[in-house]
Amino acid sequence: MAKTKDRRPKTQAQLTTSKQPRSRIGYGFDSHEFRPGIPLKIGGISLQHDRGLGGHSDGDVLLHAITDALLGAIAGPDIGALFPPSDPKWKGADSVIFLQQALKRVREAGYSVGNIDASLILAAPKIGPHAMKIRARVAELLGISSDCVGLKAKTPEGLKLENAAIAHVVVLLEKIAARKNRAHRNR
Ligand SMILES: [Zn+2]
Repeated sequence: MAKTKDRRPKTQAQLTTSKQPRSRIGYGFDSHEFRPGIPLKIGGISLQHDRGLGGHSDGDVLLHAITDALLGAIAGPDIGALFPPSDPKWKGADSVIFLQQALKRVREAGYSVGNIDASLILAAPKIGPHAMKIRARVAELLGISSDCVGLKAKTPEGLKLENAAIAHVVVLLEKIAARKNRAHRNR
């Protein structure tokens, strides 16, 4: 049997001195329950609907999944650790704040966002008519163009999750210095 001795996690000092990868991938997942009588916000956009998403902050399931994908890509603490739902400060908070904080950490780590791809799973309302607006807003928040924001919406076929909204997001980060060097070499 192979020895596992050499597979111990690196110390913090080893981690900080190790060479940073040129790109990093991140993945985020979130779900919220629909509740009557509250506004619905998805991707930073207010949508007309008879129910909104309850729970943490303004319940923006898409921005939460993007925030977690950004934090995951730099192996940072997750959204729940940074903005605990138990802290009354975040009750009803605009989820744009969470995304901006995650983006700040991404930039401090030396990365910028390349592109993201998201899947929304919800029975209603239909996302199609609002997709362009949501993509534009998410792109604006991330400092990328709309054609770098993928957004698919699906209904929860066979999942019996008619009262939930779910978001899955993957994000690709690119090292800022690496990109500059590449541009320099291409001159
Ligand atoms: Zn959430």
